[in-house]
Amino acid sequence: MVLKIDFVKASNVKGFLDEAEAKRLYMLALEASKFAPCLEIGSYCGKSAIYLGSACRENNAVLFSVDHHTGSEEQQPGQEYFDPELLDKETGIVDTFRLFRKTIHDFDLGNTVVPVIGRSEVVGRAWKTQLGLIFIDGSHAYESVLNDYQIWAKHILPGGYLVFHDIFPDPEQGGQAPYLVYQKAVASELYDVQPLFKSLGVLKRKVL
Ligand code: MG
Repeated sequence: MVLKIDFVKASNVKGFLDEAEAKRLYMLALEASKFAPCLEIGSYCGKSAIYLGSACRENNAVLFSVDHHTGSEEQQPGQEYFDPELLDKETGIVDTFRLFRKTIHDFDLGNTVVPVIGRSEVVGRAWKTQLGLIFIDGSHAYESVLNDYQIWAKHILPGGYLVFHDIFPDPEQGGQAPYLVYQKAVASELYDVQPLFKSLGVLKRKVL
């Protein structure tokens, strides 16, 4: 499988996704987008959208990329993951949309990736479209991840994928909120559980 992605260029996009995980996302979206649109929660500067979106483009499908684009808790000024380059000097507010839009342009994804600018729970209130894949990688606070799961997972079609980022069974490796919610999804028995791929938790909705 040859991915039509410039990896060097992609590696220069800000983000927290490693290349092996990114390629795995591509393969999942390539399968899922054959029968439905895909959606990600947590766009940031567009790194995962490059891979999910490029796969969707192969099938002439659509990737919805949901983010309020004002950065998550740990990306605010004074916090651990604050990046001064993302601060809008006029408003003093973190703004990741400018770089997200640049990424979509640079990777020729303008006719594939649809940015949805808003909080996922607000967008979710009005959402009706069924999806082939959902990638949950927004705020990593427990309540947020739980909300994202409860609001969005019901839109996944049988045979579609529910994918979590930052799944760390060992607390030494990272925060536990995504893992706790992932375990809830596993316990629902609605999904076939695939082996963890690095920190990607991949669940496939059963065909009942
Ligand atoms: Mg992540």
